Amino acid sequence: MLWKLSDTQPELALNSKLPSVGTTIFTVMSKLAADEGAINLSQGYPDFDGPPLLLERVSHYLTNGYNQYPPMAGIEPLRAVIANKVGTLYGAAIDPETEVTVTSGATEALFCAITAVIQPGDEAIVFDPCYDSYEPAVTLAGGTCRHIPLRAPGFRIDWNRVADAIGPKTRLIMTNTPHNPTGAVWDAADIDGLRTVTAERDLYVVADEVYEHIVFDGRPHLSLARYPDLLARSFVVSSFGKTYHTTGWKVAYCVAPPELTAEFRRIHQFVTFTTATPLQYGIADFLGKCPEHHENLAAFYQAKRDLFCNFLTGSRFKLTPSAGTFFQLLDYGEITNEADAELARRWTREEKVASIPISVFYEEPPRQQFLRFCFAKDDATLERAAEILCRL
Ligand code: PMP
Ligand code: GLN
Repeated sequence: MLWKLSDTQPELALNSKLPSVGTTIFTVMSKLAADEGAINLSQGYPDFDGPPLLLERVSHYLTNGYNQYPPMAGIEPLRAVIANKVGTLYGAAIDPETEVTVTSGATEALFCAITAVIQPGDEAIVFDPCYDSYEPAVTLAGGTCRHIPLRAPGFRIDWNRVADAIGPKTRLIMTNTPHNPTGAVWDAADIDGLRTVTAERDLYVVADEVYEHIVFDGRPHLSLARYPDLLARSFVVSSFGKTYHTTGWKVAYCVAPPELTAEFRRIHQFVTFTTATPLQYGIADFLGKCPEHHENLAAFYQAKRDLFCNFLTGSRFKLTPSAGTFFQLLDYGEITNEADAELARRWTREEKVASIPISVFYEEPPRQQFLRFCFAKDDATLERAAEILCRL
């Protein structure tokens, strides 16, 4: 008979550094969707594969001996094509040796960047609804977050409010455009706002740009890599998971000036050290050969956004089409006044469509009635989900 770990008496009481953190809403809702047999439009991931050539290239390296530790900062060919892409898109001459680091997902890059700049007692400014990995990283580094709420319908940043929130302890501003979960996208006024509040201050920026290629209706993506003065204080993070429909591979990167990259790598080398070798080689080949994939990604997802929104015509939901990301907020105020967290669970159980409540991303949830739906799904799935939503 095997002994059970749960029968043993713990001798040490663990003092949690994250006592108020539960399991992420993405894991909770995806599990509920699976348990309930619901269509899962909650956690953000495609229900289709990446490009066949990319899969072929990774298989090639996997079966041809590329299976040992790659260099800590990422393989040279991948860093080179990343630097080239950033240069082509945003006009920055990036040095792949000293300014690009490949990471195991954007989550790791965000963690390393936050850890690099936050000292005990420092403050970070975050915008609510705020992606859920930022604050725990700030807390673990000994800092605290100042939350600035974004309000419906536009979820725009009030830069005057940001200026007022900045004090002697402020060390970091977390930015995220295109924005998860709202789908809002920065415009030139936001760049001016960021510039104004950071000018002549000892402030860093961690720019979460994982949806950089998913911006709609002809808008540009205003990467901080476009602006030399802003890039000089920034860690710009992107993820191949979103770009290549391969969220499970967890391959991403961080672009930052040499001094910031050096500190970033000091941490990265002891968090993951590196990222799976065949994935890096396969992505390097594909990015070099097929830039049209990321060039066409916005149109690909815009068609899905439009399809999903059109399917919902005649429903009782109100919506403003997303400006970017693969998420659509739906306002359910005309259907019920239930709280979003309970409603998302109830509809998963009873109606068999899973979504993400957005109140969980606020420090102080406002009275609002939005659920987030992921439209990175094949068209038939979107249609089936919309049929259900139209009956509500
Ligand atoms: N930031 C945002 C805004 C995201 O939506 C996600 C994940 N989907 C991440 C970071 C994490 O990306 P990765 O899966 O590459 O760790
Ligand atoms: N970023 C994804 C989302 O917003 C989830 C990523 C995760 O589950 N870690 O749904």
